[in-house]
Formats: sequence, C-alpha cells, structure tokens
Amino acid sequence: MDALKKELGLLLLLLLGASIIGIMTGQLALLLFVTATSMLIWQLVQISRFERWISNGGAGKYPKAKGIWEDIYYHVYQIKKSEKKRKKKLGKIIDQFRKSTDALPDAAVVLGKDDEIEWANTAAKNVLGLQSSDRGQRIPNLIRYPVFVRYLNIGNFNETIIMPSPTHSHITLLVRIVSYGAGLRLLIAQDVTQLRKIEQMRKDFVANVSHELRTPLTVLKGYLETLQELEQPLSPLMSHSIQQMQEQSERMQYLVDDLLLLSNLETQPKRILCVDIPTLLDKICKENEKLNNSAGRIELTLETKAHIKGDEHELRSAFSNLLGNALKYSPPRSWVKVCWRQTNQNLILEITDEGEGISDAEIPRITERFYRVDVKRAHKVAGTGLGLAIVKHVLLRHDAHLVVSSELHKGSTFSCVFPLEKKC
Ligand code: ADP
Repeated sequence: MDALKKELGLLLLLLLGASIIGIMTGQLALLLFVTATSMLIWQLVQISRFERWISNGGAGKYPKAKGIWEDIYYHVYQIKKSEKKRKKKLGKIIDQFRKSTDALPDAAVVLGKDDEIEWANTAAKNVLGLQSSDRGQRIPNLIRYPVFVRYLNIGNFNETIIMPSPTHSHITLLVRIVSYGAGLRLLIAQDVTQLRKIEQMRKDFVANVSHELRTPLTVLKGYLETLQELEQPLSPLMSHSIQQMQEQSERMQYLVDDLLLLSNLETQPKRILCVDIPTLLDKICKENEKLNNSAGRIELTLETKAHIKGDEHELRSAFSNLLGNALKYSPPRSWVKVCWRQTNQNLILEITDEGEGISDAEIPRITERFYRVDVKRAHKVAGTGLGLAIVKHVLLRHDAHLVVSSELHKGSTFSCVFPLEKKC
C-alpha cells in the first residue's frame, strides 16, 4: 500500500511539474501528454524487463529496479526461494521413501486406473520380473497367470491370492492389492515359500499320525472287547479298569477320526454334486434324535426346498456337528430348532438352542482346533474340540461362512451362510 502511495505521489508530482511548466510556456496539453506518455513507456519497459526475468525462470538475483517494481521483484524472489527450499525438502523425502521401499523384502508396485505400472521397487523387479522400461505397461499384459488376471478383473481386494513367481517358479507369492487415492492401487507380493512348506509339513504330519494311530487303536479296542466278553467273572477293579480303558479308547477313536477328517478337508479334492439339503437335514435330525437320546427335541423347519452344489459327505459332518453340539450343550428337555431358509442373497441353515450359551469373548475362539470353552465343564460333555474347526473348514470349501450369535444362559444360534450362487 505504501509503495502504491509513493508511486501515485511521484506521478502527481510529475504531472504538477508538467502543468506548471505548461502554463508558463503556454503548452499545457502538450507537456501533460508528453509526461503521461513517458510514464507509460517507462512502465512498459519495466513490465518487459520483469517478463524477461520471469520467463528465464527468475534465475539468479533479480535486476535492479526502482519504486513499486523493486518491491515486486523482491516478493517474487522470496516466493521462488521458499518454493525451491520446499522442493528440495520434498525431493529428500521422496528419495528416502524410494530407498526404504527398495530395502523392503516384499515386492511393491503402484498401479494406475487401467492397471498400468506407475512405479515398482527393486523386489518387484526381482520377484515379478518387472523392468524399468515396463513403466506405463498394463500389468496383466506382463503377468499372465489366470488366477492373477481374474483377481485384478474381479476387484475383490479383501482377498489375497497365491501364485508362483513369474521369474522363479519355486518361489510362492502371496499377492494382495490395496486401493488408495483416486483410482490408484498398491500391489504387494510377499514370498511365502517357506511358510507354505512348513504348512504342508504340518498337514502331512497330522495326516500320517492320525492314519498310523488307527491300527493300534483297533487292536486295543478289539482286545478290550474280548476281555469284557470273558466267561469267568472279573474282579470289580478289573471290570472298572476295562470300562475306563474302553471309554478312553473310544474318546481317542473320535479324536483320530476328527483329525483324519480335518486333514482330508485340507488335502482331498471335493466331490461336488447337487445336494438335496432338505432330505439331508431330515436324515441328520432323525439320526441325532436317536444317537443323543433326544427324541422330540428337534424342530425342523424347511422354508425352502433349495438344493446346493457341494460335497454331501462334508456337509453332513458339518451339519451333524452343529446339531450334536446344540443337543449336547443345552438342557435335556429343551428345544433345538433347525431352519433352512433363503434370503435375497443367501441360503442359510440356522441351528438354535436354549442352552448355556457362549460369551462374546469366547465366540471368536471356538472354531480353533482343540479349543473348548470352560475346560472343567467340557470334560463332563464328550467332545474333541475339533467339531467346529471341521464346520469352519467345510463351509470355507463351499464359499460359505459360519455366524455365531449367543447369549450366556439363554442359548445360541449357529448359522451356515451360503451364497445364493450355490443353489442348484
Ligand atoms: P467339542 O467337541 O468340545 O464339542 P467343538 O469344536 O464342537 O468341540 O466346540 C468347541 C466348544 O464350543 C465346545 O467345547 C463348547 O464349549 C462350545 N460350543 C459349541 N457349540 C455350542 C453350543 N451350541 N452351545 C454352547 N457352547 C457351544
């Protein structure tokens, strides 16, 4: 504002001087015209100098100037100086970011809206075989595994996929995509070769142990039965011991059977057929009523007659486990309701009991292998702690999931939720 006042003051002073001389010489109009034109030309020269300086990027110190122009040069120079500083700082941050992402063991690739590569770290170059020259190329044109292309196309990035490395086929990669910003995505590929090997060893170990335990168990059980059927009467101690051994071998048999079933679920392919769920549920309900001495306790409601694509044997063991639990963990004469129904998006099997319920803290853990709520209580009720792990696996193999809602001392509802696409 001060600079403007100064400029105006100078202009007025010049015009006043020109007017006085003009009146004295009788050339007022001419002198005013000459003064105003000179001022205008001077300003144009300043503008042109400024334009030249700025079009050269405002490099170096600004040229000498007078009045308001000196202020303009000074301010623009200061803005440019602080911008330069900011750029330098930003450059440093980007450099550090590049160095740290290059040090990452996981491959990271930034993808644009059309899945084109915008940036990739060193690990991505090694493990995904990407080159610097691939920048701008669409990634599905370079990594052509169907599982990867499908993953990109479907766009459900809550999930991850497993695929071999395109450069080293013995390396297994876990690939995950995260969306961020406006249409950008970050692809992360992690080397899980070692983890997969350990997981396979665990599966093989469980499968072998449970298989190998079967024969000695059968022999043991056979001898125990023979001992019980002996004609000469046994001493009370002997008969008690044999009964205990029989109970324990029975328990062990259940454990081995459940472990084998779980290990088959992990290793064997499914036998997919169209399964008549209403008939299957009817059979399971009748069997369980007999097995668990629960005549008249089960109420089966079939709201839909829907069949689903699946493995009947696996579904039977999952549903049987849930129904068995509902009967086991609720009072002897309470109701257990089984309902097969359809919603807009799902087919749902609900099993509801009026039992002891499960606390909110325990619900996330009950599908873990060998997890039993309240160990003391659980010992009174026969079980292996593997039933719900089997249910979870079976459902996972059918693209379904288990939902548990429960209230302590009131009861629980276990729902198997299948996507509607499974209907056949
Ligand atoms: P288990 O052989 O012990 O029944 P599961 O894996 O089937 O093993 O169940 C794990 C635990 O979850 C059980 O020990 C029990 O405490 C709890 N549970 C399962 N179903 C129910 C139910 N319907 N009501 C109450 N608790 C249940």
